Amino acid sequence: MTFSSSDQDDLIRKQWLKAASIARDNLEAKIDCPSCGKGNLEIWDVPFGDEDNPAGREIYLKCPVCNKEESLLVRN
Ligand SMILES: [Zn+2]
Repeated sequence: MTFSSSDQDDLIRKQWLKAASIARDNLEAKIDCPSCGKGNLEIWDVPFGDEDNPAGREIYLKCPVCNKEESLLVRN
């Protein structure tokens, strides 16, 4: 089976989203970068909305090796 480059991009995108959902559940998780396979992703958890009434948070992932970034919105 061969992948066209857009299928490959789609696969990598899915791996990033999976990485983001792991990070959502465990901010300390060690996740290999889906794009380069070399870096351990850095994870930020950024709340948004009012302090008293948070609307959710955004999980940011960044690879320190290839600098690829991804984010996942999590609504409360
Ligand atoms: Zn990378």
